[in-house]
Amino acid sequence: MKDITKSLKSGDHIIIDGSAGIIIKNPSEETLEAYREKIILLKEYEEKLKEIIDLPCTTTDNKEIELTANIDFDEEIDFIINTGHCGIGLYRTEHLFLEEGGFPSEEKQNEEYKHISDVVYPKNVTIRTYDIGGDKLLPRSEKEDNPFLGWRGIRICLDREDIFREQLCAVYKSSVNKNIRILFPMISSVSEVRRVKEIIKEITDELEKDGIEFDKNLKTGIMIEVPSAALLAEELAAEVDFFSIGTNDLIQYLLAVDRGNDLISNLYQEFHPAVIRTIRQITEAAHKNNISISVCGEMASNPHAVVVFIGLGVDELSVSPSKYPEIKQIIRSISFKEAAIVCDEILKLSTETEIKERIKKFNSNILNENSVTQLI
Ligand code: PEP
Ligand code: MG
Repeated sequence: MKDITKSLKSGDHIIIDGSAGIIIKNPSEETLEAYREKIILLKEYEEKLKEIIDLPCTTTDNKEIELTANIDFDEEIDFIINTGHCGIGLYRTEHLFLEEGGFPSEEKQNEEYKHISDVVYPKNVTIRTYDIGGDKLLPRSEKEDNPFLGWRGIRICLDREDIFREQLCAVYKSSVNKNIRILFPMISSVSEVRRVKEIIKEITDELEKDGIEFDKNLKTGIMIEVPSAALLAEELAAEVDFFSIGTNDLIQYLLAVDRGNDLISNLYQEFHPAVIRTIRQITEAAHKNNISISVCGEMASNPHAVVVFIGLGVDELSVSPSKYPEIKQIIRSISFKEAAIVCDEILKLSTETEIKERIKKFNSNILNENSVTQLI
């Protein structure tokens, strides 16, 4: 698959089946017909999903799950309006860096954040501070041998405090609607969180002194995506208002599997027992400290995983805009009580294959086979 373009010539036909993760080169008439049929069924299913847009996002036994969207680029904001104004569980700010070719000014950020806050109101928007580095852009040219283990996310922000302070100021100044939350990526220790809180205190004291209006109860949260943060979840939960699990990074760091490396993609296992048990531990720590727990990594958009998150007690799922209606439909079809029983069972299993089998069995009556990503 990796070198597919090398074996294609002008005039070849291909089918890209994103849900199965396959490309079919020069399909037979029979295959083409099967896919035409699939497209019709998928369209029908999508039309049907529109019917639930205004219905509550609750399980069959009335447990409310907050369903929000991940926004990477401003172009995706229309989606928020079209879905009847859902909240934003993860607003990635890296695109500002990309558009400006460097760090944007405080004024530019202020404009952006206020705009997004107005669009989403009265729902919440969770603005994540810059997560640059790793697989994303870097504000300097030096090459790192292990960028994923290097200068990234909060590490850059705490080293380049001037930039971090500008971003925080912009977020606070944009918070007059009182619907903004702020999220810090790549946290790996309690000291980092305490340093962030000291900086916030200095900034808000200054704003107050200058008579600038802002939300004095603005909630702060951290991404749990580094194994050390998962292990310290109890202590970290005492420091912040909410957690958001970044499964993309949590899985890569927990299993030591590069999230972008095709050669080992079979080892990148969302349903690995260590992943499931870690999510349970984080969720328990959050609830013990009465803070909310959300999941914003790609796994939250995997239809097969919804039962797992609900059963483990996650309060919020922040998903890719295109998956929003389907995930809502699935939440509305699942009983929290039954999902919790399935999770108690899978927490005792020791291989990903066994866990997937159990999940497949549960989901067989819930998922629409024409629409879902295949559980490979
Ligand atoms: C994650 O790691 O799951 C996440 C949401 O952050 P990003 O993909 O931006 O690293
Ligand atoms: Mg991440």
